[in-house]
Amino acid sequence: MLSTMQDVPLSIAQILRHGSTVYGDAEVVTWTGDGSRRRTYAEVGRRCAALAHALRGLGVTGDQRVGTFMWNTAEHLEAYLAVPAMGAVLHTLNIRLFPEQLVFVANHGADHVIIVDPTVLPLLNPQLQQLSTVRHVIVTGDSTDGVDAPDGVQVHSYEQLIAEQPTEYDWPDVDERSAAAMCYTSGTTGDPKGVVYSHRSIYLHSMQVCMTDGPAMKQGDRALAVVPQFHAMAWGMPYAAFMIGASLIMPDRFLQPEPLAALIAAERPTMAAAVPTIWLGLHQYLEQHPQDISSMREVLIGGSAVPPSLMHIFEEQHGIDVLHAWGMTETSPLGSVARPPAGTEGEQRWRYRYTQGRFPASVQARLVDDDGEVVANDGTSIGELEVRGPWITGSYYGIDAPEKFDDGWLRTGDVGSITPDGYLTLTDRTKDIIKSGGEWISSVDLENAVMGHPDVIEAAVIGVPDAKWDERPLVAVVLREGSDATPESLREFLSDKVAKWQLPENWTVINEVPKTSVGKFDKKRLRSQFHDGGLAVTRL
Ligand code: ADP
Repeated sequence: MLSTMQDVPLSIAQILRHGSTVYGDAEVVTWTGDGSRRRTYAEVGRRCAALAHALRGLGVTGDQRVGTFMWNTAEHLEAYLAVPAMGAVLHTLNIRLFPEQLVFVANHGADHVIIVDPTVLPLLNPQLQQLSTVRHVIVTGDSTDGVDAPDGVQVHSYEQLIAEQPTEYDWPDVDERSAAAMCYTSGTTGDPKGVVYSHRSIYLHSMQVCMTDGPAMKQGDRALAVVPQFHAMAWGMPYAAFMIGASLIMPDRFLQPEPLAALIAAERPTMAAAVPTIWLGLHQYLEQHPQDISSMREVLIGGSAVPPSLMHIFEEQHGIDVLHAWGMTETSPLGSVARPPAGTEGEQRWRYRYTQGRFPASVQARLVDDDGEVVANDGTSIGELEVRGPWITGSYYGIDAPEKFDDGWLRTGDVGSITPDGYLTLTDRTKDIIKSGGEWISSVDLENAVMGHPDVIEAAVIGVPDAKWDERPLVAVVLREGSDATPESLREFLSDKVAKWQLPENWTVINEVPKTSVGKFDKKRLRSQFHDGGLAVTRL
């Protein structure tokens, strides 16, 4: 029997229409370094219409790709909404990619147009010649200055382009399964691979961002999106905000602790999202320059494991709850979110919050061992995490990657355990696991333990070859200025926190842990620094 329900497609156009009318007074705020640019969602709606007309005028038809090479701004929000709503495909380009990766990604996605912020033109210009499908470059703002356009590429200013356009658009009906946006993985562990989101997947994912037991974005929130729009769709915040009537606070290029603190003081966000390194940096800055940041009731942190010490610092020193979440570009990215079960208190509650959290009903998760067998969710059995669901990718754009899928499930490359009540604890990425004498050592556990030391700012642990045990952990630490901590004292600090056989004997004190293009610890680079002899290792 078929249902009697209407078959109405879930679409970005619907999110755009709804947000710009029902929540027309909500606003997107873009930081300028010493103040804010403001635009209401009603204005954003009109400008989206104008942008769609302008793009049509440039010949964008069908599912052509419109790339963005931009920071988080109001204009980037407009592209997020207008491009898919008109039926074309938004392609967010990571401005921190290596040049050859940028060329690969833009050509592979076959971008027809690129919208670019003037401040990042120096990064785009040297590559433009090699972007074989690009016909138009649109520079945000009023000017076209500074573009080294090769023959055959036209340059436009965003404001001039949309200025004379109609401010209404008859958004087409689209198949909800068609492509809306694409984003390439940031390539932490290999070449970037393209993930293509559908209208349906984005719509459903946006609802999840607003679920009470999820990130719980709600009408009236002021959501600070520190996570870049070029990284896993800014974790879905722009679409969810427009869907639910939360205002968006966009930091543009001002992602350093000092301007972020100023932005928070000026715009008083109620929630925010970013990777752990951003919050670590902000906390260190605030230690020297105290400021009340408790307008934020909660910050969503994911992208890499959140050290429990960071969660305590934010709650106890800044009055802000940390919501730990797990996800990937391939999962839109919301996977699990660590809200503790109702009724839990004290230590027990914290223990739940340290985990990567529970999956929503829409995302199924299982753990699979080395023999391909599904292991029990008993809280101790370890396996590779596999997920499936309506906003989990089932393939990569234009390439075959059978090793990334298992009978319809996405293999995440993450390893951990799941409790009977569904809480995921990740111990590692498969590539980062340290195998010592046949036993596994979790680099994440060691990092969390070391970062619990008050003098440690950052700690990253990698496996290094060992004649006796095959592999042993090497801890790379960044110490607070003036600290007299030593590898010996740090090892001593760990002695009642990790099993004796796991206590690391290899230590190196460095100035900064290398970071990936999206601000995570770059263990690949750390490993090659070690192998090239670039790390001064103390062996205890
Ligand atoms: P990349 O794979 O290039 O880093 P993604 O942003 O898609 O780009 O990263 C997804 C990966 O980030 C996950 O597979 C996982 O290894 C890691 N990750 C994300 N959230 C967490 C978390 N809360 N704890 C531990 N690791 C996480």
